[in-house]
Amino acid sequence: MPEICPKCGLPKEICACDILDKEEVRKIKVYATKKRFRKLVTIIEGLDGERLEQTAKELKQKLACGGTVKDGVIILQGNHTQKMKAMLKAQNYPEESITVIYGLN
Ligand SMILES: [Zn+2]
Repeated sequence: MPEICPKCGLPKEICACDILDKEEVRKIKVYATKKRFRKLVTIIEGLDGERLEQTAKELKQKLACGGTVKDGVIILQGNHTQKMKAMLKAQNYPEESITVIYGLN
């Protein structure tokens, strides 16, 4: 008996649910760098457009730091990589989609 997908009811071999799920989960990348900005900043890449501004606003508020959104990327002043996974999780971003690179880039 072929295994049936509980989501779409099709046999697993031909169902595309896994692929679709993966595409929905955006990969978020967090790292600290000094390179482009001359001072230490935390970069958050891969947030979706609608929530980008709101997330940036909340992070700035909670961290009490300056920051900006540029070209779809959040740039926060200072190194906040240690806190970022918990903070993004608190804003309902799935943990498995968040990659934090600790240490300076
Ligand atoms: Zn399916």
